[in-house]
Amino acid sequence: MNKKILQKIKENALERHIPILMDDTLEVIDKILTEKKPEKILEIGTAVGYSAICFSEYLAESGRIDTIEREHDKVEEAKDNIKKVGVEEKIRIYEGDAVNILPTLNEQYDIVFIDAAKGKYPFFLEQALRMLKDEGIILADNILYKGYVMSDYNKHKQRTAVTHLRQYIKEITENPNLETTILEVGDGLAISKKIK
Ligand code: SAH
Ligand code: MG
Repeated sequence: MNKKILQKIKENALERHIPILMDDTLEVIDKILTEKKPEKILEIGTAVGYSAICFSEYLAESGRIDTIEREHDKVEEAKDNIKKVGVEEKIRIYEGDAVNILPTLNEQYDIVFIDAAKGKYPFFLEQALRMLKDEGIILADNILYKGYVMSDYNKHKQRTAVTHLRQYIKEITENPNLETTILEVGDGLAISKKIK
């Protein structure tokens, strides 16, 4: 993989305020993926492909990432970036709303990375659980949403997102088949491992 190009992609995305994976979050995921050597990863929320490109390094041989993005311009840019770095064999982008695309997928994944519309996290969880292998791991980024999720005052604008993120946390915590840790890295990362 071309690290210099990856660095450029990262800087360009940050300049444009595209909410890409933060460095401290990537550090945590690095440990998880290094140990896991996943065959299949599902990502919800591609943006310009930065996180998918990062994750592609950890795949087992002939491993694959499926990633979903609803904005056409982002899909085009992601495809471009993925080609530039030279990992186009490893990443397949689905264009469209994940709410419509997820129910059409029927694969089994080692890792599901949720990083899209916060109001849809409970639905994404339901779909992730349907396709997760035993001992698979679901990672949910932005789970603490700038601290709003843990505070009792929220502006109207954030209220729906916060309600759904809290619902997500409640479900992963109460699910007896999941072992969950929530970390304050980046904007909050929930790590849920499916136990046999
Ligand atoms: N994972 C990326 C960042 C994703 S930002 C990275 O770390 O590099 C979130 C992206 O999710 C945005 O590009 C947004 O368009 C997309 N998105 C939000 N809701 C979505 C949905 N319901 N279906 C598909 N894509 C969605
Ligand atoms: Mg994010």
